[in-house]
Amino acid sequence: MSRFFSDKFSSLAPYVPGEQPKDMQYVKLNTNESPFAPPVSVVEAAKTEAQKAQLYSDPECSLLVQKASETFGVKKSQLLFTNGSDEILNFAFTAFCDKSTPAVFPDITYGFYKVFANLNGVAYKEIPLKSDFSIDYRDYLGVNATVFIANPNAPTGLTLATWEIEEILKSNPNHVVVIDEAYVDFGGESCIPLIEKYENLLVTQTFSKSRSLAGARLGVGIASESLIADLNAIKYSTNPYNVNRMTMAMGYASLCEAEHFAKTCAVIEKNREYTAQKLKAMGFEVLSSKTNFLFVKSEKIGGEALYQALKARGVLVRHFKAERIQDFNRVSIGTMREMDIFLENVREILSEIKE
Ligand code: PMP
Repeated sequence: MSRFFSDKFSSLAPYVPGEQPKDMQYVKLNTNESPFAPPVSVVEAAKTEAQKAQLYSDPECSLLVQKASETFGVKKSQLLFTNGSDEILNFAFTAFCDKSTPAVFPDITYGFYKVFANLNGVAYKEIPLKSDFSIDYRDYLGVNATVFIANPNAPTGLTLATWEIEEILKSNPNHVVVIDEAYVDFGGESCIPLIEKYENLLVTQTFSKSRSLAGARLGVGIASESLIADLNAIKYSTNPYNVNRMTMAMGYASLCEAEHFAKTCAVIEKNREYTAQKLKAMGFEVLSSKTNFLFVKSEKIGGEALYQALKARGVLVRHFKAERIQDFNRVSIGTMREMDIFLENVREILSEIKE
């Protein structure tokens, strides 16, 4: 840290992204990316748009917003696109939390919530998950704080029912409830239909997972017109051109590829269930997942040890050191071939322990 760095960030602990080692070719199951390349039409859209890169992008994302309003069944004024969904989440911390309005979120959830709270100088409270790692919606009733819940949650993969989220919304009418639906497309139920009924609901989604665009960085917020106006005030005070031309065109083309989208999500769900079943047969505890990852634990080997052993064999999964979950690993769902390689390596690692 230089002597020029503001004191207000002296205790900031930045988010640590999943590792991207370059030393060898890994089967990469550690950052919940899609194993599928985007459709050709999406790649072509970026190429065409790159020819106009000397011009600023449309700050209103007009075409993309028009297409998304049809896709999601909401008004154009109920949408805001951002540079990944991380950006809309950060905007939400900036816009809807302050000294008198803290944030609340589960103790085990997306690690960036804590970072955004710290970055924005906002107090926060972490609410422990239940012993089975599920969220008890009753812990969030009338909390007098801005609520952040990933649904499905990460890294557990577990979901809250829509009626439970509705209870949280009803009991916090004077506070914003942010439902982060980064993984909703793999079998979850979206809360988007609730935005008409609850002006305090902000739903965030990403194109990084189910739409194979992690490297393009595109996220979206869906909420009442008034919340979107607030978030726009933050956007236009930060970076009006937050979505670049190429990404905007890719997002539009991606929304036009409804069939490809449905097909690839279905493949991931199928591969997930296959992997879960095989892991259970090997004695793993596998949390029920509605995402593109599994959260798994073996009685035979510790979480860190399994992560290290897999890495040495060229398979990357994500291990978290936090005490409650250190026995687990989060395994992203890839192609069937990747999952078979993963499973075969796990089998070999376990058999070596027995000897
Ligand atoms: N929310 C959750 C729960 C996530 O796991 C992620 C991805 N790491 C994000 C939001 C952010 O994704 P992105 O910025 O790529 O849209």
